[in-house]
Amino acid sequence: MSFARAFDPLLDLVFPPRCPLCGAGISTHGGLCAACWGDLAIPGEPSCRTCSRPFPADIPNGALCAPCLGDPPRHDGIAAATLYNDASRKLVLALKHGNRISHARLMARLIGAKLDFVDETRLIVPVPLHRWRIWRRGYNQAAELARELARITGGKLVVDLLERRKPTPSLGGLGKAARRRALSGAIAVRRGRKAAMKQARIILVDDVLTSGATSEACVSCLKRSGASKVVIACFARVLDEALELANQAE
Ligand SMILES: [Zn+2]
Ligand SMILES: [Zn+2]
Repeated sequence: MSFARAFDPLLDLVFPPRCPLCGAGISTHGGLCAACWGDLAIPGEPSCRTCSRPFPADIPNGALCAPCLGDPPRHDGIAAATLYNDASRKLVLALKHGNRISHARLMARLIGAKLDFVDETRLIVPVPLHRWRIWRRGYNQAAELARELARITGGKLVVDLLERRKPTPSLGGLGKAARRRALSGAIAVRRGRKAAMKQARIILVDDVLTSGATSEACVSCLKRSGASKVVIACFARVLDEALELANQAE
C-alpha cells in the first residue's frame, strides 16, 4: 500500500477532494464530479470494425468506416477512452500542467476500460517525444499514461522502446503527404531493444490521437521490427469534426 493511500482519510481531511476539471467538492480523491463525468464523450457502438470510429445509429455495427476502407491502417485497433471535446481537452491540459500523477491515474483507468484483457506479455509503449521537448516540459505525458496503464492492467511497461530521432514540427494544418514527409525517419525502435520485438504484442499509448500520422509512423516501425500486433490506446481521440479545435489547442 502506498504512503498516500495509507493516509487517505487524513489526506481527505487536509485537502478535501475536488473535481480537477471544475473544482466542485467530490467524495474521494482521483475522480470527477458527476457533471464533469457527464461532459466526457465516451465512444460506443455502432462503430468501425477496424478502428472503432463511432457511427451514427443507422449504420450497422462492425461495418468499415470510409478512412479504413480507403486506406487500410496498419494498426490492429484503436482503444480511445473518450472523444476529444472541451471536457477531455481540459483533462489533457491538466495532465500537462497540473498534478500529473493523479490525472494520469484517472485517465489510464478510463483507457484501461476500453482495452481487451491484457497480460504480462503485452508490451505497453508510449509514443516518444523528442528529448528537446522532454527537457522543456520535464516529462512525456504519454509515458506517464503508459506507466499508470501498465500498473492497472499488468502489462509490461517499456518506456524507451521507441525514440524520436529528430524533432518534428507541429503537424496541425499539414496535409497527409506533408505529415508523412515531416515524420519520415523521425521515429525508430531504439537500438538494444530490437531483440524484444519478435512477435511482440504492443499497446501504443498517447494522450491525444489527432490525425493519426504520428501513431501510424510508430505502428509502421514497430511492425517492420517484428511486432505481430499493435493496438493504439489513447485518452482523447479527435474525430475529423473536432480537428480544428485540437489544432487551435496545440
Ligand atoms: Zn467537475
Ligand atoms: Zn475505421
